Amino acid sequence: MVEFRRKKDEKDDPELCSVKGCQEPLKRSMSGKAVAKAVPDMKFKVKDPKKVRLCKEHYKEYKKATKEERKLQRMSWSK
Ligand SMILES: [Zn+2]
Repeated sequence: MVEFRRKKDEKDDPELCSVKGCQEPLKRSMSGKAVAKAVPDMKFKVKDPKKVRLCKEHYKEYKKATKEERKLQRMSWSK
């Protein structure tokens, strides 16, 4: 009875964001390596993509991550 949650096959739609579970339209295309390095937590629909497509939100996340790489010290002040 708990069979409602069907596993959806996520395909790598060229017009959508490459981030796993994300269905937003593509905003920027980036090098997969650069993104994986900046945001190691980000998972993609394709393993090890050469190019990743980011939607607006994920691009923002990427930008934030690259910026905050230098400000990591701030995170150690966890209250
Ligand atoms: Zn996205």
